[in-house]
Amino acid sequence: MRKHIFNAGPCKLPDRTLENTSKAILEHLNTGQSVMELSHRGKDFQAVIDEAEALFKELLKIPENYSVLFLGGGASLQFCMIPYNFLKKKAFYLNTGTWATKALKEAQLWGEVIEVSSKDKEFTYIPKGFNVPKDVDYVHITTNNTIKGTEILEDWDFGVPLIADMSSDMMSRPVDVSKYAMIYGGAQKNIGPAGVTFVIINNDFMNNNIADRTIPTMLKYNTHTEEGSMFNTPPCINIFAVKETLLWVKEMGGVEAMDKLADQRANFLYNAIDSSKMFRGTVNKEDRSRMNICFVMHDQYKELEADFIKFASERNCVGIKGHRSVGGCRASTYNACTMEDVKVLVNAMEEFEKMKA
Ligand SMILES: *Cc1c(COP(=O)(O)O)cnc(C)c1O
Repeated sequence: MRKHIFNAGPCKLPDRTLENTSKAILEHLNTGQSVMELSHRGKDFQAVIDEAEALFKELLKIPENYSVLFLGGGASLQFCMIPYNFLKKKAFYLNTGTWATKALKEAQLWGEVIEVSSKDKEFTYIPKGFNVPKDVDYVHITTNNTIKGTEILEDWDFGVPLIADMSSDMMSRPVDVSKYAMIYGGAQKNIGPAGVTFVIINNDFMNNNIADRTIPTMLKYNTHTEEGSMFNTPPCINIFAVKETLLWVKEMGGVEAMDKLADQRANFLYNAIDSSKMFRGTVNKEDRSRMNICFVMHDQYKELEADFIKFASERNCVGIKGHRSVGGCRASTYNACTMEDVKVLVNAMEEFEKMKA
């Protein structure tokens, strides 16, 4: 039986992705070959990557002068590629959590970094009303903070190039891509299995802002845009699975539908947390993530946490233990997570509270 999967990453994927990827592993269309055996330069795989790219463009209404790339190395490699390519003197990093901190550390290897952060309060809020100097090369933000459970749901504009790590909320809402110089993320939080990284990059930004340093070929963005993500062998099977997930998003009504469903799931779970005497949320209400819902037990129940996680797992809810750096609980309610999954978890919370409180 399939469990109620609340893992933070790799994430739950739609049945369609699992079924069609399984089939394609045995035989891709009528090629007599597995999708894993196809030449990445042959027409059959080219059709797969073209479709994945076209779906990205269609679902997010990506403007003409942007490229969509499928790369290896995870979002973590982007942490280093971004400053390597684009940090000439000074960049601005909004430090809103564990991943943002990692991105910022890489940037510090290449230039001056202005940091605005919410670490004074354990990253439980999104800083607002801060000033961004006009002379920075770019601003880097993390739209969804997977570990701390906060999210930026607006498309900001600081009048300087904006780069966003959208690893864990990609395809969960409409995004005004024209506001961003670049958007990137690991696929495994919301749109596919681990092993492929998506990059959406404005071509003018990419061509006109390259830092004056020697950059290894593989780490240059224009290497990959010029070769259509085929400078080297791309992660073929992962791209296939992303394509299937994007087809599912489209079938479900696109990112507008994902947005509504994300609201429904998150509201239902946060309401349960807020009306409970046992559980409480950990972050500033207005900055709550819809993708990673972090909660803990009130102090007098603290020692029951492990019991609760066990109780929930007996009801087939997996992945709700909080990140090791935060503790408590975290339910990741990505696109493929259903209201039914959330209801099972909320029932478990209510039953547990009745039994113990
Ligand atoms: C998981 C995560 C990353 C790291 O992604 P990898 O693909 O494992 O390198 C980066 N940023 C955010 C917001 C994440 O959630």
